[in-house]
Amino acid sequence: MFIDSHCHLDFPELAADRDAVLQLMRDNGVSHALTISTTLKTFPAVRAVAEAHDNMWCSAGVHPDEQVDDHEVSLDELLAMADHPKVVAIGETGLDYYRLPEPLDWQRERFRIHIRAARQTGKPLVIHTRNAAADTLKLMAEEGAAEVGGVMHCFTESQQIAEAALAMNFHISFSGIVTFKSAKDLMEVARQVPLDRMLIETDSPYLAPAPYRGKMNQPGYVKHVAEHIAALRGISVEEVAAATTANFFGLFKHARR
Ligand SMILES: [Zn+2]
Ligand SMILES: [Zn+2]
Repeated sequence: MFIDSHCHLDFPELAADRDAVLQLMRDNGVSHALTISTTLKTFPAVRAVAEAHDNMWCSAGVHPDEQVDDHEVSLDELLAMADHPKVVAIGETGLDYYRLPEPLDWQRERFRIHIRAARQTGKPLVIHTRNAAADTLKLMAEEGAAEVGGVMHCFTESQQIAEAALAMNFHISFSGIVTFKSAKDLMEVARQVPLDRMLIETDSPYLAPAPYRGKMNQPGYVKHVAEHIAALRGISVEEVAAATTANFFGLFKHARR
């Protein structure tokens, strides 16, 4: 059985036909999914998905790319959102310097507040980083993120960055990107990361793995991520499934089977 540790089931592409999404999960042996919060407004819909399905949980957080002109999330709001049995993680949070122009002080401050919420609740962090690895690690260190741990989701950074995150008590999660022919360096990282610190995800509805690249992604496709990693490491897909499932429940301690 596989677990999709990061998807967005509230996004319209995946919300449109929930039954088909669940059916493909069953067909492909994907037993559980963690659906990830990205905005304050949509959090109730994310939580509703987790509440409606025994095999799903959710996170609480505001994505670093979410620009708000009206209301920035506060620590107290995050703590209130996280105070629910189906919320097992804080995020997705982090830094993304790819899409938005500087100054991004608001983004760094938002990241700090999420780390504080994770430490206070004991619920681990789901961290997104793009073109911002050095600052991401710096803020994680400054805010004591190692105390609560978490996952570097949809990992696309170097082995060196992976090792720095591992040293801070974080897991590394690989998405469909690791199946892309151009991702040779990332494939090497997927060979090196210790099996007991690895997670798998789809980040659906985006980034469908080969052989579905360019199509709509969904949690059932996490099986293809696992198959690719197994081939890269020369181990069985069952071994990847068993390790990443155990890692998921080890990390997200509030998730009950
Ligand atoms: Zn992300
Ligand atoms: Zn995401």
